[in-house]
Amino acid sequence: MSDSGLLQTFDWLVIGAGSAGVRAARLAAQAGAKVAVIEQGALGGTCVNLGCIPKKLYVTASQFAEAFSAAKGFGWQVEGLHFSWPQLRDAQHAYIGFLNGVYQRLLEQSGVVIFRGQAVFLDDHHLQIGEHTLYGKQILIATGSSPVRMMIPGAELAKVSDQIFSLEQQPKRLLIVGGGYIGLELAGIFAGIGTHVDLCFRHYLPLNGFDEGLRQQLATQLPLMNIQLLPNNVPLSITAQAEQYRVCFQQGQMAEYDQVLMATGRKPNTQLLQLESTGVALAESGAIIVDDFFRSSISHIFALGDVIGRTMLTPVAIAQAKCLMHNFYALQSQEWQILDERLIASAVFSQPEVASIGLTQQQAEEHGSCQVYSTIFRPLSNGLSGHLTRCWMKMVVDAVTQRVLGLHMVGPHAAEIMQGFAVAVTMGATKADFDRTLAIHPTLAEEWVLLRE
Ligand code: NDP
Repeated sequence: MSDSGLLQTFDWLVIGAGSAGVRAARLAAQAGAKVAVIEQGALGGTCVNLGCIPKKLYVTASQFAEAFSAAKGFGWQVEGLHFSWPQLRDAQHAYIGFLNGVYQRLLEQSGVVIFRGQAVFLDDHHLQIGEHTLYGKQILIATGSSPVRMMIPGAELAKVSDQIFSLEQQPKRLLIVGGGYIGLELAGIFAGIGTHVDLCFRHYLPLNGFDEGLRQQLATQLPLMNIQLLPNNVPLSITAQAEQYRVCFQQGQMAEYDQVLMATGRKPNTQLLQLESTGVALAESGAIIVDDFFRSSISHIFALGDVIGRTMLTPVAIAQAKCLMHNFYALQSQEWQILDERLIASAVFSQPEVASIGLTQQQAEEHGSCQVYSTIFRPLSNGLSGHLTRCWMKMVVDAVTQRVLGLHMVGPHAAEIMQGFAVAVTMGATKADFDRTLAIHPTLAEEWVLLRE
């Protein structure tokens, strides 16, 4: 950590020690640059502290419920089970504390200087962080994004995802507003650990933007996981009464919950930077406008990750950081890269899990003619567990070239399975490539190579 109060000069000032900022800072330092990172929160950013990592730990915790219930069908006696919210909360906090230390060591071992505090721009080369004034030849803004609430009376009474894993107590009745990534993942987590979960969203199906068939499958299966869906319905107001929150819904009903969570999107973190001192151009959303090389309207100020308001996913942010630093330090070699963000595999760790890559059927049909192969089946383990969930898959193929344009899946291990098949799709695999791939039996994934019209 730096403790000098004097003006200090760096090749790169990186604002934000999240996934993108840390990767960019380390790569620049490895290329010989003098680099400082400025972070006002915990090292690792949203992914490590409030998002991907704690979320996955909670998803794992909640999935035990299904495993315990399945176990009976396999001959186990499972009794006297009890879930402790404080125990999980404290264990994940301790683990995340360990990861914060890992991030600190990674930065320090790369020679990156860490400043703690809120960075504000004095002009387009200088930042103020508390008592420190720093000069950056280049500046990278990687400040991420924050959750936004709906604008309704009482919205401030609702929690957002940043707060949810630190709750003192597990809610007994929880309303989740928003049918996107966060809403679905948190619905699965809380339903799994025994909370009554209502999930409301403004469309008739959750996961707007995903393949229509996938959305329908999910809507059919979520209630089997004890998640009550309230489609075409959002709150009009929230009021606090004793320890309860009373919610009035658009469709006229009223209900009481002991927590309300708003998972209604995220906005780029640009408000506190005093960017008006620089002339960096912002979109209406507050996102920093950048070109293909992550350069803002000021040529030595760059931005990437959530703060540019494109795809808000950790692996995309890291790929952007790698691309930026590759281009910056490969200037002489003429091997400039433009990051191809057209094919992004992603997963929603809902229960059941969802994963997807490439075009939806609807998108493919808009671009030309396509063939669609799909299947729905009962996973082998459900034969004994008695669980009613199904595994669903859809492949979208270009009718002319036979190239696989998209894969969409709902079911166990969808994310792990999709990661492997994403390689094939990224390489341009055709339906025939899938067909000549021998199956591994018995697996769920084998169905991808056995799809027939
Ligand atoms: P999403 O954009 O995924 O979902 C937001 C939800 O809130 C949608 O259902 C949206 O409806 C609804 N909504 C937004 N504004 C309003 C409003 N004013 N009134 C009513 N409903 C509203 O955002 P999340 O907050 O869930 O997640 C943010 C981002 O974080 C994701 O887009 C994703 O990029 C990333 N993320 C990725 C994860 C992963 O990779 N597994 C996990 C968690 C987050 P509509 O669809 O109609 O706009």
